[in-house]
Amino acid sequence: MVELIPSQDKVMQILQRTGAFREGHFVYPNGKHSPHYFQMPLAFRYYDTARVLAVALSRKFRLEKDISSQLPKVSVISPSSGGIPVAFGVRDALSAEQIYWAEQEHGERMFRQYVNQGEVNPCIIVDDIIRSGNAIEETVKLVKSLGARIIGCGAIVRFTSALTEIEGVPIKSLVDFDARMYDSGPECVDCKEGVNEEVVRF
Ligand SMILES: [Zn+2]
Repeated sequence: MVELIPSQDKVMQILQRTGAFREGHFVYPNGKHSPHYFQMPLAFRYYDTARVLAVALSRKFRLEKDISSQLPKVSVISPSSGGIPVAFGVRDALSAEQIYWAEQEHGERMFRQYVNQGEVNPCIIVDDIIRSGNAIEETVKLVKSLGARIIGCGAIVRFTSALTEIEGVPIKSLVDFDARMYDSGPECVDCKEGVNEEVVRF
């Protein structure tokens, strides 16, 4: 059988090759330390790679009857700018009708587009990476406030510590990553060993 959805190892190889996954000693804006760093936009700078990843994720959605039966009257929604290339790629592969993306404005997640109640088709929420799931949860609230139903949710990478379902819909991912995080420097193995740290942004 043709390999329709690349294995987790294959996807990790792509992320490593493009620099989207790095190993080292990183300090995040929230003060946590970690030996891993995902900078997903680095994978999405190559059109071919972006396409492979988005098409693979779309195949997981197409397997869901609740999604395939409603196409093309489906919205693909990104919680933030990082998910926009994923949303366009998934939309393309599924031939879904609508794309929306949200932004944080004054600390609140809002759609970039002006949207009226009832205009949004049943939704698939996609992102490049789900770390905590906060962005997804905020987007779910936004979607529901517009009277739309959530029929799918997924990301290229999901941290295993993040949520596994939303509104009764299982979260799809190409990689489930068991991230190692230390709350502060004194707990961090690399700090203890004196490894140079790199301050990164999300
Ligand atoms: Zn450290």
